Amino acid sequence: MSESAGRLVSRGIKPSYQRVRILDYLAGTKAHPSAETIYQGLAPELPTLSRTTVYNTLRLFAEKGLVLQLLLDEAEARYDGDTSPHGHFRCRGCGRVLDFPLAADLSPPTLPAGFRLERAELSCVGLCPSCAKALAPPGE
Ligand SMILES: [Zn+2]
Ligand SMILES: [Zn+2]
Repeated sequence: MSESAGRLVSRGIKPSYQRVRILDYLAGTKAHPSAETIYQGLAPELPTLSRTTVYNTLRLFAEKGLVLQLLLDEAEARYDGDTSPHGHFRCRGCGRVLDFPLAADLSPPTLPAGFRLERAELSCVGLCPSCAKALAPPGE
């Protein structure tokens, strides 16, 4: 059994071939792909794969804590196979999403009484070095 198949079984998910391949894809990238990108990446090798399967599989993985669903982009969710604590930086120029380490002393937000925190994440938006350069006013 592959590592991805073992991780599926440990979360009570039946390790179908397509699910294993989707989890492998996420484990093998740092690009924080969208569901569409994952579909485009796997479709040539998995001709029976449908977009619906990819969307449903990603939703299941996110529910089971196998992947993170990131709502960094107003257009579409991005997915991260790395569930360890880290922050994200999205370039508003090219759409790249980069990981950055969190300071160890990042404390959870203080919420009004009665609220229960389930997840906190740090995401930043800005420009990567090449986009910052491309968008610099001429002469600077
Ligand atoms: Zn950029
Ligand atoms: Zn990440």
